[in-house]
Amino acid sequence: MSPRRLLAAAVLALGAGVAAAAPELPVTLRGAFEQGAVVLGKADPAAKVTLDGRRLLLTAKGDFVFGFDRDAGPDAVLGVTLPGRAEVVKHYTVRKRDWQIQRIEGLPPRLVNPPPETEQRIADEAVLIKAAHERDTAIDDFVQPFVWPAKGRVSGIFGSQRILNGEPKQAHYGVDVAVPIGTPVHAPEGGIIALAEPDLYFTGGTIIVDHGHGLSSVVVHLSKLLVKPGDRVQRGQVIALSGMTGRATGPHVHWGVYWFGAHVDAQRLVTPKP
Ligand SMILES: [Zn+2]
Repeated sequence: MSPRRLLAAAVLALGAGVAAAAPELPVTLRGAFEQGAVVLGKADPAAKVTLDGRRLLLTAKGDFVFGFDRDAGPDAVLGVTLPGRAEVVKHYTVRKRDWQIQRIEGLPPRLVNPPPETEQRIADEAVLIKAAHERDTAIDDFVQPFVWPAKGRVSGIFGSQRILNGEPKQAHYGVDVAVPIGTPVHAPEGGIIALAEPDLYFTGGTIIVDHGHGLSSVVVHLSKLLVKPGDRVQRGQVIALSGMTGRATGPHVHWGVYWFGAHVDAQRLVTPKP
């Protein structure tokens, strides 16, 4: 064997040795470790599972979920402890994605830079929204496949960097489906209504559905709400009528998905086109 081949064989053997030395995590995972992704996992229901130190709820069948923010990364650490065993830890790289740049011109200036007198209102509303996203509810709806809240042309995608009237602003954290005002809006997944507000400053008529374990959907710019906080809804149930309330430039449904405070890509949870 040539010295070069010998070296290659030695490196391979070393690689195999390292892999054998690192114990595999006693879980199964479905989903990509990349920005905006949701990962579904399954473990022994008695296991303790953590992501970056955060303890994850497990269903009676051992299902759990986590997600990666649009700007997450580059590292993630998953830990699993089986009863009576030492914790097994695995390090992952969260893959970076490229985001579109979306320019919108001609917006009324008050919508690009809210007037100072609306500051308190916006801050109060942010508290309500954050509380709804931070719920960690022991229901297992999140395990089921999702459905689109409405059918129509996709007019905006997740992650775009928005430049409004020439000013760089917050990224777009949902997927927009263009539909006429008054179109029925369906719950993308079953759950409990965590928030139902007819008139928030940015998002107008707004509903947040808690799907369990920190995963929630928000649908916004609604013209009519058909549910109230605490209601139990089924996947596909009509929960509202669409509109263009709040900061909307045209009639559409904006659907966003969150894992606690992390913005994840709703479109990745359903068939590519509504
Ligand atoms: Zn949108």
